Amino acid sequence: MHCRSTFLVVTWFAVLSVAAVSVAWNVAAETLPATVQGSLNVHWSEGAANCSATPRQPLQVHSYEPQTFILRQNLCLSFEGNFLYLLIGSDKALLIDTGAIADSTQMPLAKTVMSLLPDKGGAKMPLLVVHTHGHLDHRAGDSQFASMPLVKVIGTDVEAVRAYFGFTDWPNGTAQIELGDRTVDVIPTPGHQSAHVVFYDRRTAVLFSGDFLMPGRLTLEDSAADYASALRVVDFFRTRPLVHVLGGHIELDTGGHSYRVGSHYHPNEHRLELSKQDLLALPSALKEFNGFYARYPNFILSNPKHNLAALAIAVLAVLTVAVWGLRWLLRRRRLRTSTGK
Ligand SMILES: [Zn+2]
Ligand SMILES: [Zn+2]
Repeated sequence: MHCRSTFLVVTWFAVLSVAAVSVAWNVAAETLPATVQGSLNVHWSEGAANCSATPRQPLQVHSYEPQTFILRQNLCLSFEGNFLYLLIGSDKALLIDTGAIADSTQMPLAKTVMSLLPDKGGAKMPLLVVHTHGHLDHRAGDSQFASMPLVKVIGTDVEAVRAYFGFTDWPNGTAQIELGDRTVDVIPTPGHQSAHVVFYDRRTAVLFSGDFLMPGRLTLEDSAADYASALRVVDFFRTRPLVHVLGGHIELDTGGHSYRVGSHYHPNEHRLELSKQDLLALPSALKEFNGFYARYPNFILSNPKHNLAALAIAVLAVLTVAVWGLRWLLRRRRLRTSTGK
C-alpha cells in the first residue's frame, strides 16, 4: 500500500512537471514572433554575352514575401549586378543600398522603389535609405532620392553611420531600426570597408550582408578588422535564428569559380543565398588566411593590396633579371668586338 501511494505521488509529480514545461514552452513560443517565410524560387537575370543585342530590363524585382523585395541591377548595365533590398514595416520602409548607377533614365531605381511602397495617410510611406558600406556601387543611386519628400538618405562614411545609428563604441554594439511591427538590427562589420555594417531583419530572420559575406570575392581592406567583425556577427547569432544570408553581389558560378572581373555575363550563377554554416565558417577562414587569396566552396578571400604588391615585386624581379641579362649580353658582344672574335 505504501509502495502504491509513493508510485501515485511520483506519477502525479511527473505529469505536473511535463504540463508545466509544456505551458512554459508555449508561452515562450508565443512571445517570440514566428519568422515569416519567404521564397527564393527565382532565376536571376544573368546578363548577356552580347549586351547590345539583348533587350535590357534595368531592374529585376522579386517579392521574397509581401513586405520584402529583392532588386537586382542588370549585369549589362553594370558588371557589379548589385542586389538591393526593400523592407516594408507598418510605419516606414527601409532600402538597403542604392546600387551602381546614378542616372535615373538608365536605372529607374527611385521610381521603382516608390511604386512598391504602400500608401500611408494619403501619401507614400516614409522611406529610410541606408547602405551596407560606402563603395560607389552601393550608393551611386542616392542622388535619385535626394530631393524626395519623406525620404531620408543616410551618409556612408564612418562618422555619418556612427552618428545616425548612435554607436558609442564603434565597431562594438548593435543599433536598431524600427519600421513599425518590424525591427532591423544593425551590426558594424568593418574589414571590407571601414564603414561596413550588416542588417538583420527579425521578421524574416534574414541577414543582409553586403560585401561582408556573399557568393563572391570577399576583398579585404583590413583583414584583422574583418576577422573581429566575423567573430562579433557569429556571436550575435548564438541566440538568434538565421534563415538566409543575402549579400550584395553574385560573383561565382555554381562550381564556385569566379567570373572575370568586369564580365557582363554570368551563366550558371551560384545561388544568392548563403547559409548559417557559411557564416560560421568565416572566422576560421579569415584566421587561416594567407593574406593573398583563398578559395572556399561559397566564397573567395582576397586582399587586392597584397596581391598588387606581390605582382609589383614579381614584375620588378623579372625586369631586374631582364636588365641584368641584357647588360651581360651587351658586355659580351662588346668584348667579342674588341677582341675581333
Ligand atoms: Zn564593396
Ligand atoms: Zn560591392
